Amino acid sequence: MNIKISRLKNRSITIFRHIVQIIAFLLINYIILEVIFSINLLRLEEILKFLPVLNSPRNPISTGAGILEYIFFFLAEGIFPFLLLGILILITLFTNRFFCGWICPIGTIQDACSAVPTKKRTIKIDTHNSLLRIKYLIVIFMLLILLPLGISRLTNYSFYLQFKENLGDLSNKPLGYFSLSEYIFVFLPNMIKDIFTYGSLAPLFATLLSFFIFFFYLILIIFSIWYPRVYCRYFCPFGAVASTISEYSFLKLSRSPVRCVGRSDCGICEKVCPKQIRILDEPFEFFTGKGECNLCLKCKEECPYKAITLKFG
Ligand code: SF4
Ligand code: SF4
Repeated sequence: MNIKISRLKNRSITIFRHIVQIIAFLLINYIILEVIFSINLLRLEEILKFLPVLNSPRNPISTGAGILEYIFFFLAEGIFPFLLLGILILITLFTNRFFCGWICPIGTIQDACSAVPTKKRTIKIDTHNSLLRIKYLIVIFMLLILLPLGISRLTNYSFYLQFKENLGDLSNKPLGYFSLSEYIFVFLPNMIKDIFTYGSLAPLFATLLSFFIFFFYLILIIFSIWYPRVYCRYFCPFGAVASTISEYSFLKLSRSPVRCVGRSDCGICEKVCPKQIRILDEPFEFFTGKGECNLCLKCKEECPYKAITLKFG
């Protein structure tokens, strides 16, 4: 009994984080609460819109879209989103990637997958470092499309209309193809519905793109059982933007050079880190794993020498 209580105490941060994640998941997808408790929570909509989470506006159980989706939408309309960018930068400067670790519903779903009791695996460091670049390439790709689209709207409207038509879904839902949220809450339910409606797998093979999307994200979700937060690490566009800003955040982790006994004698922090961050190669004073740390605080919780602390400043 005493052993069980002390184990729970040692995991108190993780337990608290999971409680916050579940509450945030229900609030962001508040239609679930409305259905369960027969209440009207429409007032939450305006607040949720500004949460910096990647949440599809087409998600039928949510009305939030995620600040990045709004930023891309305005760029495509030829409007520079000063206010939204300012909010995103300020939130990240003050809270680092707290939202990724504690609030984002897609992070919560991946954490639920990785809670399956299997031995967690790591990706070879060179491969891992190369894969980390994918999410930045996605953002650059989107900007290369959306910025000219927005500029053409201001300079040549008829060209803009033609350009937009040629881009198809890429201009209407810029993050759609790159969003695990869009896949889980929109693409997958619609695909399953179509399969049942037609009584065949034909909708799956309707286009090469739908076939690819179906299996790519399905594999990614299954992979997250062994490779925690695999979508966040390599593919999430919001993760790319947030990690760029979070390197300058006031809220960071710090590792005591006096308490830490190093990789050869311990190294537990690196083994438990879901983002595969080489914590022991990071500076002592402040570290963010080059912006990858999502402040889950697992390293702090599991360090037997209490060498890791959260610092502001
Ligand atoms: S778990 Fe703590 S003591 Fe062990 S290597 Fe990491 S920071 Fe150092
Ligand atoms: S460095 Fe620590 S807080 Fe950051 S993601 Fe890894 S385990 Fe979590």
